[in-house]
Amino acid sequence: MTPLEFLQRLAALVPRPRLHLIRFHGVLAPNAALRSQIVPGDPDQVPAPSTEPNASPPATRARMSWAQLLKRVFEIDMAACPHCGSPLTLIAAIEEPAVIVKSLAHLGLPTRALPRSPARARNLLQTA
Ligand SMILES: [Zn+2]
Repeated sequence: MTPLEFLQRLAALVPRPRLHLIRFHGVLAPNAALRSQIVPGDPDQVPAPSTEPNASPPATRARMSWAQLLKRVFEIDMAACPHCGSPLTLIAAIEEPAVIVKSLAHLGLPTRALPRSPARARNLLQTA
């Protein structure tokens, strides 16, 4: 295989920009009749306001919080203390890199990400 043939084959595998890469079939297909019964609604969609004068405001669903996502995916409960079970509250968000490094160093934790291992060299243009 020549380098040009390799590049032609490789370019054929790259999808076009903004192309949907996940396609749903069956009951998860976009126009399936039962889709609305099993797929949660779009949180960005706001229901139409009621015309009744004393109607309560519609309940809007918010996106899942990070704590809910961590619990759902990794089973890490960020809502309760692992020692006493009391509810946890956010007391600070440290965003300054120098303060983060200082805090990690004080706790004896690594202050830098682990170094990446170099990529393995492979001869992709090898002819058979
Ligand atoms: Zn506690």
